Amino acid sequence: MSEEKIIEAERLKREKDGLDVRADIYRYAVDGFDTIDSGDFMRFKWWGVYQQRPNEGHFMMRIKVPGGRLNNEQFRAITELTTQYGRGFSDITTRQTIQLHWLEIQQFPDIFARLEGVGLTSAGACGDIARNVTSSPAAGFDPDELVDTRPVTDAIQDFFHLNKNFSDLPRKYKIAVEGSPIQSTVPQINDASLVAYRRQSDGVVGYHFFVGGGLSLQPHIAKQLDIFVPADEIEKIVDVQRAISECYRDASQLRKKRTRARLKYLMAEWGPEKFTEEVRKKLDWSPDAAAPGFEFSDETFRDHVGIHEQKQEGLYWIGLCILAGRWTDAQMNVVADVAQKYGNGDIRLTNVQNCLIPNIPAANLEPAKAELAAAGFAWEVPTIRRGAQSCTGIEFCNLALTETKLRIKDVISHLEMVTPEPYERGIKINMNGCPNSCAQHHVGDIGLQGCMATMGDGSKVEAFDIHVGGDLGKDATFTKAIHRKVPAHLVKYALANVIQNFQATRENNERFAA
Ligand code: SF4
Repeated sequence: MSEEKIIEAERLKREKDGLDVRADIYRYAVDGFDTIDSGDFMRFKWWGVYQQRPNEGHFMMRIKVPGGRLNNEQFRAITELTTQYGRGFSDITTRQTIQLHWLEIQQFPDIFARLEGVGLTSAGACGDIARNVTSSPAAGFDPDELVDTRPVTDAIQDFFHLNKNFSDLPRKYKIAVEGSPIQSTVPQINDASLVAYRRQSDGVVGYHFFVGGGLSLQPHIAKQLDIFVPADEIEKIVDVQRAISECYRDASQLRKKRTRARLKYLMAEWGPEKFTEEVRKKLDWSPDAAAPGFEFSDETFRDHVGIHEQKQEGLYWIGLCILAGRWTDAQMNVVADVAQKYGNGDIRLTNVQNCLIPNIPAANLEPAKAELAAAGFAWEVPTIRRGAQSCTGIEFCNLALTETKLRIKDVISHLEMVTPEPYERGIKINMNGCPNSCAQHHVGDIGLQGCMATMGDGSKVEAFDIHVGGDLGKDATFTKAIHRKVPAHLVKYALANVIQNFQATRENNERFAA
């Protein structure tokens, strides 16, 4: 690639590795916001830090939580930061991370120290690097799991942590580890994912590898490599992940255009056979071929909310609905207290922006529920509420066209009033503030994509394109638009019509996707 053709993002990355901006953050914390180099604003992302709207000196920060697993001390540390620096609220994201807002540059040395003091990091939470590794939020206690994903999730997280061999990838890189036949980590729309399967020939449980999923303007479903590795061969599993990542890192054709830089475009160019061949070339051992008979389940609605028996006899988890993932520090403190008092202190975050309190003995269930209910938490809620997801939106996101967090609350409250439960199978609503699909609107039963509409008098208003019929699993398909540029204040009425019409005409538990 000739020097003059290097795009700006690639130039900035070559000039200085994103992870190296940490030292500059400490300097800026002393010298002040006005001294920040413009290129370093982009590099801040490698430490999970973004400028937030309205760009008046505040930042948002994503804290990595591999597999959504936090112990009590870690959760309390985040809660204290939420109170002290984050104006009293935080957001659970669709990658099981926690996002803080309203941070200022001088606060970061203290924030880094306090996170690292409890074994947390924001390194790699954003930027062209391996993001938070997601996995089944009920790993280790899910009665349905084929394998506990925690060892592999941690090994992959450790492999990429501060690893300068992989800190300059063409673009973001999302990895998921799925341990249950019923998906909860959306492996088909991650860049690279591992999906557990019991090989029928010998009963060995291992992982299959999927590559090239992703949404945004051009959604792709990941394709399967012809590789299977037993789940207890963790070093080999990480080695396959290394080889996949090297294929991505070294694909120079992806670095010519930001909009064509995701791993999905390499999979589209190579196809799964060539991709498998290239991965095998990078291994000094020979993995087994994919196990025959695998297919994704067609049961794809999993949100973990409610009271559930764990696989450990006599223990339960309580799954709390945190609509759109936003909660206050007061609510977080209640969750921390209940987890400590009635469980073993642990807290889990889900990909549907909800939260679980595990390891509660039967005798503790009622008092735990009473304290949670008194604080306003709910778990017996309609599927339309507990399955709803929304992105950050215009409140803080510089790319947003529309508000999302408050709006989805209004939409869901209206739909609960006018559309009857049960739906037999949950209706998932995914709301995004722009086409980027951080809340995955392509795979919701209903996907809302933020846009602007021009009214009759020429004024411009926030609006949404309404899409329906997305699904993952065996018959994965993306949503299709049925209404364009619906003014935001009318969206809840339009959706009520869509759902009522669907309920009146559906046959045999038919899905939106059918
Ligand atoms: Fe921002 Fe768009 Fe992502 Fe929402 S979908 S967080 S508006 S980039």
